[in-house]
Amino acid sequence: MGCKGCLQSVIVSDEYIQQLVKEQLQLETDLVDDQTYHKRLQICKNCPSFFYGNTCSHCGCFVQFRAKLSYKTCPFPNGSKW
Ligand code: SF4
Repeated sequence: MGCKGCLQSVIVSDEYIQQLVKEQLQLETDLVDDQTYHKRLQICKNCPSFFYGNTCSHCGCFVQFRAKLSYKTCPFPNGSKW
């Protein structure tokens, strides 16, 4: 199954994701603390909608980025998981 955004496999390295998140978060000011961030990521890692080690199939986001934003929620259809 592909993600919502492009229906293609999104296989990229962890280093690429970390660099992307670091660069993009420089523009953001409304971030969660590290404890909340890691809790969110752990929930994603155990979610059936988590693909390729980085993507939420419902929003097409890299969860390593989305989970850091305090104004974002989990888009799971049966109820937000975080
Ligand atoms: S549905 Fe929620 S918990 Fe599951 S991968 Fe997407 S953001 Fe993470």
